[in-house]
Amino acid sequence: MTVEMPDVLVVGLGPAGSRAAEATARAGLQVVALEKRAQAGTPVQCAEFVPSMIERDVPAVGEVTEQTIARMLTFVEDDDRAEETPEFRGRMLDRGKFDRLLAENAAKAGADCRYGAAVLRIGADGTVFMTDGQVFKPKVLIGADGPRSRVGAAIGQVNRELVETRQVTVPLVLPHDATDIFLSADYRGGYGWLFPKGAVANVGLGINVDGALADDKSTRRGLKEMLAALLQRLANERRIGTKAYALTGGAIPVGGRLKSTAKLGATAVLLAGDAAGLTNPVTGAGISSAVQSGTMAGRAVADLVNGRAAALDGYEEELGDIFDAALNRALRRRRELLACYADGGRPDARTLADGWIGSPRYWRPEPQDKTNEKIKEGTS
Ligand SMILES: Cc1cc2nc3c(=O)[nH]c(=O)nc-3n(C[C@H](O)[C@H](O)[C@H](O)COP(=O)(O)OP(=O)(O)OC[C@H]3O[C@@H](n4cnc5c(N)ncnc54)[C@H](O)[C@@H]3O)c2cc1C
Repeated sequence: MTVEMPDVLVVGLGPAGSRAAEATARAGLQVVALEKRAQAGTPVQCAEFVPSMIERDVPAVGEVTEQTIARMLTFVEDDDRAEETPEFRGRMLDRGKFDRLLAENAAKAGADCRYGAAVLRIGADGTVFMTDGQVFKPKVLIGADGPRSRVGAAIGQVNRELVETRQVTVPLVLPHDATDIFLSADYRGGYGWLFPKGAVANVGLGINVDGALADDKSTRRGLKEMLAALLQRLANERRIGTKAYALTGGAIPVGGRLKSTAKLGATAVLLAGDAAGLTNPVTGAGISSAVQSGTMAGRAVADLVNGRAAALDGYEEELGDIFDAALNRALRRRRELLACYADGGRPDARTLADGWIGSPRYWRPEPQDKTNEKIKEGTS
């Protein structure tokens, strides 16, 4: 059995993994990056919206943008009058192209990107076993393998709260410049969306998969029925056509940040992106935080391999400084909403609206705490 011993092994070539691979390769380290799919980015499992600030981190984002977004419209229950959030600027991506652009940048920087085999198992000493028989014993292992991360599981960090989604791409009758959000007590712990992409739109919805909805079959059936009803409503309003071009879905971690550094024997382990639980628990947005945290993980690893032992703790601290305030606020709002379902109750329209980022009430002042709640409690 040949055991490869690169400086860095990155698992997953989504946005987090590609950025980590690029940053570590740029620092002159020997980097292998592993992606189970045949190529980065496809099949697309995303509604494809990113806020404008992504331009700071990915200046070439214009090359993979399908259209720009100017505002957000929030619809609550059956009310067809929307609450408008102006100045909600962003981009609708071609997510497949976006992910490939980042993976190509990693390869250009010198990362050895390998496709088509998955990480099967990770030993307690940090040895990584692949489905095709490859074996690695890296100095550093970066887990950027998404919401159900194997690297995370190997260090005991698992995203336990998830939203399950279903989305179709449909023709759009008229051009649209807003992301439309649909809030309903039926979409427990989630929401519906219409995100326009030129002549088409991604229409989807997500719901919590904890507790009563944990059974996969009933979750899938529920999602299917609710999405069919949302599509019917939009077709009745003559906003979309009835043909569906693409069906997708996937899990979104909504339980907040996990502890993202550990050691497996002599191997240092870092998590980034969805694997680290950095997706916003209310909006489900995770592309920007994946890009940012991937880059941060890569830089920390370069320092670590070059002898700065404190870089591992530094990464954990930096994640907290950058992401905890927003993640903790979203977690609180999410929990407030879910609490309304206790004893068979349901949130009313006002409560639903107040739990969404479009409402000033969502942004009401919070106690100052920068430390991740779950990590502080030791329950992650
Ligand atoms: C339906 C849906 C809609 C969404 N819409 C938006 C949106 O509009 N805007 C937004 O910001 N966010 C959105 N998100 C969230 C966003 O897609 C994620 O937060 C983002 O992809 C996280 O990037 P990542 O690199 O951490 O993980 P991923 O993009 O999930 O990348 C992980 C990679 O690891 C690979 N991998 C997994 N396991 C293994 C293994 N064992 N071995 C090798 N490779 C492996 C996977 O194939 C994948 O390529 C959405 C998510 C879903 C499901």
